[in-house]
Amino acid sequence: MRLIPSYSLLISIILLGLVSPTNAEIQGRNIFTRTDVDLSTKMVGEIVYVSLADFHRLIDAELKWNPIEAAATITTDERSIKVVMRSSYVVVDKEAYNIIYRAIFEDGSLYVPLITFMELCNKTLSGELLYFPERNMLDFVPRIYNVLDIKGDEKLNGYLVTLFLTKPLEYEYHLTDEGWLNLTLLDGEINTEKVSEYDLAPFVRSIKAYQFENSAQISFRLRNRKANFVITDQDSPPRITISINTDTDIVGLSGVPTWRKNNIELIVIDPGHGGQDPGAVGRKYGTKEKEIVLDISKRVRDYLKKKGLDVRMTRENDTFIPLGERTQFANRLGADLFVSIHANASERVEPRGCETFFLARAKNDEARAVAALENSAIRFEEEGAGGYDNLSDLDFILMDIVQNEYLKESSDLAELIQVEFSRHIRVPNRGIDQAGFYVLNRAYMPAVLVETAFISNADEERLLRNRSFRQDVAEAIAKGILEFKRRYQLSER
Ligand SMILES: [Zn+2]
Repeated sequence: MRLIPSYSLLISIILLGLVSPTNAEIQGRNIFTRTDVDLSTKMVGEIVYVSLADFHRLIDAELKWNPIEAAATITTDERSIKVVMRSSYVVVDKEAYNIIYRAIFEDGSLYVPLITFMELCNKTLSGELLYFPERNMLDFVPRIYNVLDIKGDEKLNGYLVTLFLTKPLEYEYHLTDEGWLNLTLLDGEINTEKVSEYDLAPFVRSIKAYQFENSAQISFRLRNRKANFVITDQDSPPRITISINTDTDIVGLSGVPTWRKNNIELIVIDPGHGGQDPGAVGRKYGTKEKEIVLDISKRVRDYLKKKGLDVRMTRENDTFIPLGERTQFANRLGADLFVSIHANASERVEPRGCETFFLARAKNDEARAVAALENSAIRFEEEGAGGYDNLSDLDFILMDIVQNEYLKESSDLAELIQVEFSRHIRVPNRGIDQAGFYVLNRAYMPAVLVETAFISNADEERLLRNRSFRQDVAEAIAKGILEFKRRYQLSER
């Protein structure tokens, strides 16, 4: 039984108005709670008015009267509806609606025009009001949802999404090419508004919810388009779980890269070193690379966030993260760019300047030396570096180089960062170079390593200790990233 078209209702009301005594009552029934509510009514001309004080009990809402505003607010689980005396405007949450006829105040109670107010309720509340003028009855059929809640939990190798249900539901699912995981729940009843507001970031970019006649669909847009997922259901409590496995090592290195240049949204910033690994240490002031680069990284993050990018850091405090886990982190998130931030060091005191590297076979001894320095962080890893014992063999990591897929993009990103460096900071520009950086290995996205300045050079160590220099460095890196995003998104069109 659906709503009777309102014009026929109006006609009925008009007839009713002609024959009914002015203080008639309508019998209200809440179909779910099985409670009856007598609704006192008033006629104003031909319009039936219903008492708000009775009406709110029918829809299981709370009523608050504000004498100063001469307004009453009824509040349900989802909405608040504010009715103001002698006004035809009703505010639902923050939006105003016109119910055509003014609310009236009589016998110490607010009355609202039944038909138009009921239509407003049917538009904004979950549940349905059905009016039967010939029988003088008003039924309220509350919508009962069977999806109660959705929760996301970050796991070591992925993400777990759990849908809590009131009862077991049959379901089907389908993954689209665009990375939407569509879950259809047969006989599902969902609060579409509430469901689409769930935040499962960063593993799920967005959620859409649809209520159909005999089913409901919840669509999750997965951030990592090549993530594996497994859907299972459990009892007590009834629930459906989606485990999204984003460990790319399990997916396999031969997987097709899914990086898309028209969609650069999530940047992983990797402050080098940390914890027991101080990185390079300045000769003059004993400045630690790990502290300087963490500060610069946070500034890069803040700048990019202000520009609307999603940014995550491999570490946000002084902790040790093994080199391999840094790119794993970015892969799990399906990050679009990976930028590792460092300060350079040399055995000699003279070298100075900034330089950005990407991962490829080193072409000269200098680049090889920088990679050796940064790779030496591996000695702090408790388990050693797995099969990589011979760190003197600087090309060791090239055996499974994923970064080959992104050579062009990574070198472009390096170039753009260096361009911004020459604009914004006054240290010599050493350009871009390539070498075998372990930390960039196995990144499924363009990845660079930035050597901001030489901490081993007294002048540059002093600069690195200066807050405004670090801000300039950070802004240059961020602008390089933004320019990269702009150019690649442009070229895709
Ligand atoms: Zn470093």
